[in-house]
Amino acid sequence: MSVPFLPLLIMIAGYFTPLVANFDQYDIFNPPNSASWLGSLLMLVVGIVFLVYNKRYAWLCLPSAKVFVAMLGVVLGLSLLTCPFSCSEPELIFHSTTLLFCIAAVAWLLLRNFYYVILLPLLYFGMIEVGAYIQYHTIFNSMVLVEAMECSREEFMVYITPTNISLLVAGLLVLTAVLYVLSRVFRSAGPRPLIGSSLCLLACMYILYPFVPNHSTSLSHISINGTFKRLSRGLRDLKRSDATVNILKELPSSASKPSELPYLNGDEGCIVVFHIGESIRADRVSFNGYERNTTPNIAAAPGLISWKRCIASTPLTVNSLSTVLTDARRWDDNMGAIPEEMRPTCGSVLELFKANGFDVRCYFGAMKSRSVRGDGVLMQLASAAVDYYYTEDDVMETPALIRKQLQAQAADKCNKFILINNEGSHTPFNMYDQDNPPFTPSMHILNPSSSYADAVRNAYDNTIHYTDLFVQRVMDELKGRPFVYVYVSDHGEYLGDYDGTWGRARTGVEKGFFHSTQAAAVAAFVIYSPEFKALHPKLAEAAEQLKKSSNMTIAHEHFFHTLLGIVGIKSPYYKSQLDLCSPDAQPYDGPMPNDWPDYMLEK
Ligand SMILES: [Zn+2]
Repeated sequence: MSVPFLPLLIMIAGYFTPLVANFDQYDIFNPPNSASWLGSLLMLVVGIVFLVYNKRYAWLCLPSAKVFVAMLGVVLGLSLLTCPFSCSEPELIFHSTTLLFCIAAVAWLLLRNFYYVILLPLLYFGMIEVGAYIQYHTIFNSMVLVEAMECSREEFMVYITPTNISLLVAGLLVLTAVLYVLSRVFRSAGPRPLIGSSLCLLACMYILYPFVPNHSTSLSHISINGTFKRLSRGLRDLKRSDATVNILKELPSSASKPSELPYLNGDEGCIVVFHIGESIRADRVSFNGYERNTTPNIAAAPGLISWKRCIASTPLTVNSLSTVLTDARRWDDNMGAIPEEMRPTCGSVLELFKANGFDVRCYFGAMKSRSVRGDGVLMQLASAAVDYYYTEDDVMETPALIRKQLQAQAADKCNKFILINNEGSHTPFNMYDQDNPPFTPSMHILNPSSSYADAVRNAYDNTIHYTDLFVQRVMDELKGRPFVYVYVSDHGEYLGDYDGTWGRARTGVEKGFFHSTQAAAVAAFVIYSPEFKALHPKLAEAAEQLKKSSNMTIAHEHFFHTLLGIVGIKSPYYKSQLDLCSPDAQPYDGPMPNDWPDYMLEK
């Protein structure tokens, strides 16, 4: 073979580089991503047998090496131009090129020159995605779609720069030219060699599949099918985004009835932090007795009150957020499915804080607002805020943002309500300092084979350790001020327990499954500063009472009323039976797991 197989070399190099770099994490006998060596071996045997018989009967043939390399080279270029993950994840170059090769070859064989009709729009869209990824670091989703649809002429014009227009026109021309060249190469190869090389590449992809290192972008997201998937999902998400938002929109404001704040004047500069966390299970935090030291800072905080048994209302972020922030006791987007007395009667608790003089601000992570549904719900719940802050990529930017806010308001003694909601321990469990992970080896894959389970659990514990540091950093900014830090996670996560379940699988299929497992038991705690308790004897009394509730099984339904109870806001929507600061507080009696680890049952 005299032709230098440069494209093939690039693909193979891209494929193996991450593997070599992370070889210590690679278990040769148990390849990740549900791949299996047995499958690869079988495919190899089938391939060899096929090739032997093919020699005799010549069912299929391969093009000459020169033509094959030419085809691969063109498709590789096309793939780099149109798949946003080809650049960021080199191990996917082989797959995106192979998939695109097969799709283009089939399209050309069936449609000949009409293959432009199928390929050009999707590839052009993919190309715009690559451009947008490089310029604005965004991958297409329903948020981007809505922003594009809803933006005003002026906003739209911001993107219509001479550079962007030239790029759009040049991109279309380049794409058309490349597809033209490709069709010429396909023609010169002829149908049978084209089918032969497609099958050969697919077989290679399958045989090499166990070598794919762990990555968070699944194969179905790359190449044209990925573009198509993102487009169709964006449109679908847009269509069904309304259910939760509509329920919230119809609720009267929690401030629609007169309320008061009898124990505070409003100029104490008191700070209520409400941190709605992501995916942290109660049995994985050391302050609840978990053997591994995942939460050294929170555990050491003076006066920590932790509810070991707190039950999430749902496995879905948006619905859990809705329960936690409104006076709902349960949540279902079909409200008819839950008893009337469990349904919400008013909107977000933030309205009540605002009506009682609190300056409300929200601190979100970079992953928030990834979909219309999530963003719509969050914005509806947080509409009382005077400002919103998003971190760029690391949640640790938030403490500095809070410091800035406090410095800017230094002269203003108003009371403050700070809502925090960020990535936390959301899949793929990657929000932590990856250069210095406390628990190693750690790995971010979903659906790991059993030999990677510990590494994925390590990654999960690392994210909790990082949240612990985050909480400490925020509290450092609040030091010396009267503050109370209230934390509750939105839902838990499966960690390969319950018959090898991971993430939040099965939660939508089996009714009752989620609430029967530890994935429904979430971390929840409160930390008071001594200055806060000194504000008023009634608030200190409430804090004492709150401490007594820590042995109770509680749920998301308690937080609306408890937040009001902590500062003493009186409202007709307030119920003392659900206020953990009240001697009337009643435990949660809804569905819950009964497989508590021993340390979760201890006082
Ligand atoms: Zn969540």
